[in-house]
Amino acid sequence: MQPFSLVIHGGAGTILKEDMTPELEKAYLQGLQDALDAGYAVLEEGGSATNAVKAAIVILEDNLLFNAGRGSVFTKKGVQEMDAAIMDGHSMNAGAVAGIRNVRNPIELATEVMNNSNHVFLSGKGANDFAIKQGIKLEPDEFFFSQFRYDQWKAMRDSDNYSLDHTHQGLEELMKDKKFGTVGAVACDQQGNIAAATSTGGMTNKKYGRIGDSPVIGAGTYANNKTCAISCTGHGEPFICAVAAHDVSCLMEYKGLSLQEAMNEVVMKKLVAMDGEGGMIGTDAHGNTAMVFNSAGMYRGMKNSAGENQIAIYKD
Ligand code: ASP
Repeated sequence: MQPFSLVIHGGAGTILKEDMTPELEKAYLQGLQDALDAGYAVLEEGGSATNAVKAAIVILEDNLLFNAGRGSVFTKKGVQEMDAAIMDGHSMNAGAVAGIRNVRNPIELATEVMNNSNHVFLSGKGANDFAIKQGIKLEPDEFFFSQFRYDQWKAMRDSDNYSLDHTHQGLEELMKDKKFGTVGAVACDQQGNIAAATSTGGMTNKKYGRIGDSPVIGAGTYANNKTCAISCTGHGEPFICAVAAHDVSCLMEYKGLSLQEAMNEVVMKKLVAMDGEGGMIGTDAHGNTAMVFNSAGMYRGMKNSAGENQIAIYKD
């Protein structure tokens, strides 16, 4: 049997055990396991890698704890603008959306762009119009609200700073305590096809229509059956400049590195040299998986047909 696998992340950053309550830790682990189970069920039933990553991401988007869909961070203007992308490594077709509002599951809209438009990347109002035309589920602003993200934004909104994610602390702590709550999934299905997907609210207090790496094909999201499927999380700007996800693919394709070696090279060397804090998850078309990060922690999980099931938050 062709081995199959699913890997997910819920963001990376300064995630330390001493900052976590047992209840919160339990809730994060449960959220990861729920997403892992939903995506893995698709693979187990013989479904496609693209459907599996979408199923996992929908669960994470609906979970208030993660910075994607419901629970997204607030922009400088006090609204939520979300980005998402999905890529199918078999057809090498992709769909992405940026700066969208009120779409319940941004990954569904990205998938709709991939499957039912002539385009790859839609943004802002045009993307929202496309969502309405395609009958994608919308929700009022209140649906996306979380007190925790709101307080985080309140601590920053009068400054020019922006932050990579959640904390309950004040501005000073906020800037040194960087966390990223973006969600991502990669999968290898029973046919040996792979896919990647990423969804995010971006960064707290972002302005001028800022877009991070997550929806940018090749930067935060990439899939190619010949090499790998990758989803990133971290400080988007250096990830874009490093073309991080595609760089892993290039190292595999042109230099013959394994998935793990290529991800180590990009995350632990290239991104570190560029001040690119964060990490990524990956799979190849043989079901090999890897989860690599250069930050203190990364919410992550992996489940495969060899019977492995891991969920973790901190380094060890
Ligand atoms: N990479 C995302 C961004 O820069 C943030 C994250 O990973 O949480 O928008």
